[in-house]
Amino acid sequence: MADNAVFGPPLPHLSSIPPSTPSTRACATELASLLGARAHDFAIEWVACCDSTNALLVDAPPADDGRVHVLVTDRQTAGRGRRGRQWLSWEGASLTFSLLWRFAPGTPAPAGLSLAAGLALARALEQLGVEGVQLKWPNDVLVHGDKLAGILVELLPMRGRPPAAVIGIGLNLRLPADAVVPDQAGVADLAGALGGEPPSRPALLAAILGEFHRLFETYAAAGFPALRGAWEQRNAFADLPVAVRGESATLYGTCIGVDDDGALLLRGEDGIQRVLAGDVSLRPLMDGPR
Ligand code: ATP
Repeated sequence: MADNAVFGPPLPHLSSIPPSTPSTRACATELASLLGARAHDFAIEWVACCDSTNALLVDAPPADDGRVHVLVTDRQTAGRGRRGRQWLSWEGASLTFSLLWRFAPGTPAPAGLSLAAGLALARALEQLGVEGVQLKWPNDVLVHGDKLAGILVELLPMRGRPPAAVIGIGLNLRLPADAVVPDQAGVADLAGALGGEPPSRPALLAAILGEFHRLFETYAAAGFPALRGAWEQRNAFADLPVAVRGESATLYGTCIGVDDDGALLLRGEDGIQRVLAGDVSLRPLMDGPR
């Protein structure tokens, strides 16, 4: 495949970051060749370093050319999590990238999108042989209870255009021995989950992008209800007591699943409550209400 099928001229929105290097170009070329016929569905930029791949795509989204825009970086210096939290990554030890996904004109506000993204990543990891993959609402990916990957979905203002979402993913490949992750009980990496050397980042991305494409076609056509059962099969806290911490209050109950909009369903003393993603954090409840 010709290089310019992948790179093209530098996109204006990326003019403020370092140009690609021979090594990042080699990664992008390998990714395009692994994507095969699917490569034409994606516009791929692979850069050596940036602050946040989500921030770049949110602040200056590239023009709509019918493709899914993918921005990958070797090193992310200010990775974002939800509610101003940080996503930490280490060069050579993490896969960090974001996708800009546009939905067809007339598509309603995408309900359950965060959950669909988590499911796509979970399925890609399962296909690579990872066992014990679980989803923690709304969209963390765990392995046997420990956090392997984080996802941040940010919706772009629509103003008469088709809805668009930036989906950022950070996946731990091989955590440094001295890595410290605040406020996270258990952290996993892919090397540990696979019991050996993880696939190269281009190979991982090819598997993940392929799965996103398949699953988002279903999502665009039939919405989250078509994926709800698959999400619930992987629910890390199915039928377990949990605490859902919000800005001003904490809800306690048993996690009984999610509804067709992707809202968390909690059974508590006052019946079933729906919790919308956004400003809440889900935690297992080991020792009763605190
Ligand atoms: P939580 O995981 O606390 O429920 P969240 O799902 O909103 O919160 P994210 O926005 O996905 O979290 O990610 C931010 C949080 O993830 C950080 O507060 C930190 O606890 C954790 N974290 C940051 N970097 C990593 C990493 N490389 N591996 C695992 N966890 C991380």
